[in-house]
Amino acid sequence: MSVSIKSAREIELMRESCRLLAQVHKALGEMVRPGISTLEIDRAGEKMIRDLGCVPNFKDYNGFPASICVSVNDEVVHGIPSKHRILQEGDIVSLDAGLIYKGYHSDAARTHAVGEIAPEVQKLMDVTKQSFFEGIKFAKAGNHLYDISNAIDDYVTPFGYGIVRELVGHGIGTHLHEDPQIPNFRQKKKGILLEPGMTLAVEPMINMGRADVCWLDDDWTVVTEDGSYSAHYENTILITEGEPEILTLY
Ligand code: MG
Repeated sequence: MSVSIKSAREIELMRESCRLLAQVHKALGEMVRPGISTLEIDRAGEKMIRDLGCVPNFKDYNGFPASICVSVNDEVVHGIPSKHRILQEGDIVSLDAGLIYKGYHSDAARTHAVGEIAPEVQKLMDVTKQSFFEGIKFAKAGNHLYDISNAIDDYVTPFGYGIVRELVGHGIGTHLHEDPQIPNFRQKKKGILLEPGMTLAVEPMINMGRADVCWLDDDWTVVTEDGSYSAHYENTILITEGEPEILTLY
């Protein structure tokens, strides 16, 4: 396994790629409302990314047929946008988006409420988001990679939620998915030493019920096996000697 260390110039390109993605996410989040189709969100996202002079990195990735992954309620990730899928009051929708700027990839995900949602669903979203921040408290040079994984697990597990195991975070740079893989659950090993210049996509995916997931017939959409709601929160971060830089925050 080789984990790329970005040069100062590459870090600047990663920062810009991520800054642009943060803008796209902000705009997409503002579109979320009852009555909009998941395809409308995808089309708007793709147009925004291309208007910024960038390329949507999810489009055609291993054959994925859209630019934005739009996953509703019990869909964990990789939901395929559709004009027939209309968001309803009380839904939650996870938007996972990424782009390429001058050869450098960015990746981030947010789960949004559609109108008024149940308090227990809001709590799932809050815990999922906070678990990212708990994990990256350990994302600094000299710590080990799985310090991040363990911190996410330690924070989430007491809530009784299921941490998705089949999908994990990843390194990112000139490719969307680079080494290392970053699990969101406790590891027996320590993992690699973190070094300044590593760029990582940390992305807890948390189910309100059990951790188990399965794939729909489209071979893309990942859903919770028990039908419970699932939330996703992801940012691309930069490892430094001190606190990590969260590159995809608006
Ligand atoms: Mg990712």
